[in-house]
Amino acid sequence: MLIRILITLLVLSSPVTQAGWYEVDTTLMGTDVHVSAWHKHDQQAQKAVESALTEMRRINALMSTYESSSELSLLNREASQQATVVSDELLQLINRSLEISKSTHGAFDVTYASIGYLYDYRAGTKPEDKRIQAQLPAVNYEHVVIDEQANTVAYSHPGVRVDLGGIAKGYAVDRSIEIIKQHGIENAIVTAGGDTRVLGKKLDRPWVVGIQNPRSEKDVVAVIPLVNESISTSGDYERYFDDEGIRYHHIIDPQTGDSAREVRSVSILGKESTYADALSTSLFVLGLDSGMQLINTIHGYEAILVDQEGRLHYSRGLQQFAEQDQQHDALAGKVSQLVNQ
Ligand code: ADP
Ligand code: MG
Repeated sequence: MLIRILITLLVLSSPVTQAGWYEVDTTLMGTDVHVSAWHKHDQQAQKAVESALTEMRRINALMSTYESSSELSLLNREASQQATVVSDELLQLINRSLEISKSTHGAFDVTYASIGYLYDYRAGTKPEDKRIQAQLPAVNYEHVVIDEQANTVAYSHPGVRVDLGGIAKGYAVDRSIEIIKQHGIENAIVTAGGDTRVLGKKLDRPWVVGIQNPRSEKDVVAVIPLVNESISTSGDYERYFDDEGIRYHHIIDPQTGDSAREVRSVSILGKESTYADALSTSLFVLGLDSGMQLINTIHGYEAILVDQEGRLHYSRGLQQFAEQDQQHDALAGKVSQLVNQ
């Protein structure tokens, strides 16, 4: 993997304003979205970016639980009563989610939403303990029953809800990159919230993505050059409120129905954004030891965790960069050159 990691506090790349680049910053899927692409004909870059944004809107309309008309909302209303026919696309993403549930020992579980919907992070409200206990049996991915022949999904337990918030943004990023490629583009970046995938380089040098300091919005704890790769970060600082010194945030441990609190953030590096997205949520739930154990068995995917003391931890494939942390000041200069030239 072409990755260099350096602990530093740097201003990230300057915006791409040269000829041939077309970029858009907007809000979609309830989060900040950035898409930029390069083509020698500006109009081709623009077409590619606009098509990617259209694709994201389409996926949101299909899978958002905030849209009562989405296919997923419809499924959540019906699937406890009867097996419900869904599109291939939704079926496949739910299927993929269930596979990831199995391989993460249930840390990733889209039925977390059976309890998750009771939290309101904006209003700062959480369910009472007894409500959580009453709903906890509904949180179990095994309640989601797929019939691939009939293209149906059924929930085999009352009160089950599915939310794809831990994987759908990564999926939307992958789809967007695919569409951008189909437009003949070779250099692009797509970001949706904590999920980023890059296509090629930023022309002649790698793209540079920063991992945010979980306790200081303007700082980054690592700077990562990427080429043809994805990075996905899950943190406890995106959607949260603090109550009596305890942080309640949007990543739920399916075993307890409460927010997972062992680490502050998890970043996953790897080819596919869909998988990186789901794995970042999974490792956040698993915590440091189990999380590292898991990622070290997954070929082509690496992790950087920030623990509750703010210390960084690297998966096996990134150990060489962990060692570079020791000399980060010297190396920071090099990255600074790379980023700002
Ligand atoms: P973000 O949405 O900020 O990019 P994540 O990728 O970590 O962050 O996804 C968090 C989202 O994942 C939550 O908002 C919620 O929709 C969903 N989620 C929370 N807990 C779980 C879980 N245990 N398994 C699967 N999805 C989860
Ligand atoms: Mg995720």
